Amino acid sequence: MPELPEVETVRRGLQPVMEGARIVSVEQRRPDLRFPFPPDFRERLTGRRIVSLGRRAKYLTAEMEGGPLLICHLGMSGSFRIEDENATTPGVFHHERSKAAAHDHVVFHLSLPDGRRSMVVFNDPRRFGFMLLSDPGTEHPMLAGLGVEPTGNALDGPLLSEMMRGRRSPLKAALLDQTLIAGLGNIYVSEALWRAGLSPRRLAGTLAPARGRSERAERLATSIRSVIADAIEAGGSSLRDYVHADGSLGYFQHSFSVYDREGQPCRKPGCGGTVRRIVQGGRSTFYCPVCQH
Ligand SMILES: [Zn+2]
Repeated sequence: MPELPEVETVRRGLQPVMEGARIVSVEQRRPDLRFPFPPDFRERLTGRRIVSLGRRAKYLTAEMEGGPLLICHLGMSGSFRIEDENATTPGVFHHERSKAAAHDHVVFHLSLPDGRRSMVVFNDPRRFGFMLLSDPGTEHPMLAGLGVEPTGNALDGPLLSEMMRGRRSPLKAALLDQTLIAGLGNIYVSEALWRAGLSPRRLAGTLAPARGRSERAERLATSIRSVIADAIEAGGSSLRDYVHADGSLGYFQHSFSVYDREGQPCRKPGCGGTVRRIVQGGRSTFYCPVCQH
C-alpha cells in the first residue's frame, strides 16, 4: 500500500500538469472503485479550473475554482500517469504499478494555461482506491478527525508527549492511530522507532513524564519527521530520475533500516543486534531488541 511519502511524490509529480489546468472532460469508465463515484462526478468537474493540488494524510486533494474538492486515495494498487509528449508515471513504488488499459478507470483531459493538452490517467487493478467530492466550505467525513501531519513542525516533542499521556497501548499501535498522527503507516513507524532507539512494545504512556520535557518524545518526534522527509526526498529524486528515463517503469529500491530486514544485522553503528519481526495488532513490526528500548 502506498505510504505517505509515495502519495506526496505523486502529488509533486502531478502538480506541474494539474495546478492551474482546466478540466476539459472526464472519462469515468466504471460506476465504482472501492466506493461508488459521487453522483454527477463528471459533470461537477468538467470545465473547472484546478486551483491547487494538496495532500492530507494519504489523500490527494484537488481544489476546484468555484467547485468541489476532489479527494483521491490510491488504495493498494492505484497510480496516476500523465500522458502527453513526455509521458510519465509520477511516484515510484515498492511494488510496480500497472499500466494495463483495462485498469485505467478515470481519465482527466486537461488544458494547461500555456495551451498544452495533457491527460492524467488513474489506473487501479485491485480497485481499493477511490475518488470523492466534497462541497465547497465543508469538510468531508473522510478527512474529519485526522490527526497532525507528520511532515511539518507541528509534530514536536511536547505535542507527542501529550498525545501519548496515559495511553496503555504499545507505542507502535498509538503511532498508527490516524486520529493522533495522520498518514503515518506501518513501514515508517518501524523506521522512526528504530531511529529514535525506542521499542515498539513500550507502553505509549511512558513518553509522557509526570513533569518536565520528555527526551524520548523529542527524539521520536524528530525521528518521525526526518524519516518521512528523507523518504519524500528519495521519492523526489526517483521522480526526477524517472522523468528523465523516457517513461520506462522501473523499481525504486527503498532503503529501509529495519523494515523487512528480519534476521539481518542492525544498521546502527556498533550495535551488533539482529533485526527481529513481531506481530502487533495483526501487522508486522521490525525492530532491533539491542538498541531499541
Ligand atoms: Zn540495533
